[in-house]
Amino acid sequence: MTISPLLQVEGLDAGYGEIAFLHDVRFDVAEGEIAAIVGANGAGKTTLLSAIAGLLAPRRGRVTFSGELISGRKAHELPGRGLALVPEGGRLFPFMSIEENLELGAYAPKARATVRQRMDEVMAIFPVLNERRKQLAGRLSGGERQMCAIARALMCRPSLLMLDEPSVGLSPLMSERVLDTIARLVRTERLTAIIVEQRVTEVLEIADRAHILDHGRIVRSGPADQLRNDRQLQETYMGL
Ligand code: ATP
Repeated sequence: MTISPLLQVEGLDAGYGEIAFLHDVRFDVAEGEIAAIVGANGAGKTTLLSAIAGLLAPRRGRVTFSGELISGRKAHELPGRGLALVPEGGRLFPFMSIEENLELGAYAPKARATVRQRMDEVMAIFPVLNERRKQLAGRLSGGERQMCAIARALMCRPSLLMLDEPSVGLSPLMSERVLDTIARLVRTERLTAIIVEQRVTEVLEIADRAHILDHGRIVRSGPADQLRNDRQLQETYMGL
């Protein structure tokens, strides 16, 4: 029996205005796996997440999530269906409290109905946020801000979490903590994750599979441990 992937991206083209930046992108993500999307600046990583999350309409191709065609659906419909995006930098509302930021993550009707219970569950995962729940999000450190953005995404009880450069602007130690937290969440909360990262070595430590994006095309896909030991990849993307 073949188990269908949780997410399937097939022949995806996307871009801005007249210019296409993604060309025939195809990859699968299995349930429970951590998939890393790596590539240089401008390779199209954010564009790819935006096209999957409905922020950018694909010109061609299909995205299937949990057996349902989601390409063409609007971004605001997707969290309610179990797909959550943590944008680069977290995009919190700095003049709102941590708690209020989290409440905004539960705007889908199903999540809204159980927001109090879910808030307690999510706060239990992130005690550091719980202790400071009434504080303004703008007061958080870079690492805490990233945790808060992840916590907000969890409010809609996603099955797939997509994270755009969760380690951006963080110290190596803090990046490791954030990536370890994501890996722990995937195990304990039964999540699947797609992580876009420039810290290639670090993300390959926690990923199951990796996909290398180069000028808008996936040029390699494979088990993360294999790609981690690939000499050419090390020279091209890891600065080793
Ligand atoms: P980075 O690591 O620097 O974030 P990336 O791999 O995420 O890079 P994208 O942000 O997806 O790359 O950008 C891919 C290409 O699309 C780049 O050439 C970029 O300049 C262009 N681009 C991104 N956003 C827009 C936009 N809103 N309008 C026009 N072009 C854009």
